[in-house]
Amino acid sequence: MRLFAALVPPDEVLDEIETAIAPHVGQVPGLRWPARATWHITLAFFGEVPERVLPDLQVRLARAVARHSALDLAFDGFGAFSSVRRARVFWAGMSGGSMTRLADSVKAGARRAGAVETDEKRFHPHLTLARAKHEQDLSALVESLAGFTGSPWRAESVRLVSSTLGAQVRYESLAEWALAPPEPG
Ligand code: ATP
Ligand code: MG
Repeated sequence: MRLFAALVPPDEVLDEIETAIAPHVGQVPGLRWPARATWHITLAFFGEVPERVLPDLQVRLARAVARHSALDLAFDGFGAFSSVRRARVFWAGMSGGSMTRLADSVKAGARRAGAVETDEKRFHPHLTLARAKHEQDLSALVESLAGFTGSPWRAESVRLVSSTLGAQVRYESLAEWALAPPEPG
């Protein structure tokens, strides 16, 4: 099974993004916009994981998540991979608490459980909003959204999600673990 770990922002925060992008959804040639119900922030991508690994994976992930505190985050603008001028993935970016430390720890736990495909690329926290089949220049789109700042929100849990690829990708949440209470101050 194809698995990943993700954060899911609160509805009010997603509303802000939905409102910001609404004038553009379906209006940019070449871009496909996944349904809002599928929006998530990938923390760690595990790739194909043998079914027998799942129980141990869940134990390790639960342990890793519990060792980290809830994160205070905010969406702070839009961008694209690999770049705005050569875009395949259009996203909302974020700033705040140390997602990288949490992601590293979740990946390490998964590797110990035997999820070996775990991604090694540099971690760029983002919420994917649209995808292009071929690289395209999204400067106009990104410029028209400049100045967006989302409300602060707290990531309080991590989900383990399975992904079934197909004409329409399907995600299913398999487990959710709470992060520890935030550090005081
Ligand atoms: P599709 O592949 O059909 O476009 P998808 O990318 O949403 O759909 P998956 O490929 O299963 O579905 O990916 C699940 C999540 O993991 C997505 O957020 C995706 O961006 C992310 N992801 C996929 N592959 C990698 C990878 N190699 N490294 C990091 N993140 C990845
Ligand atoms: Mg994919």
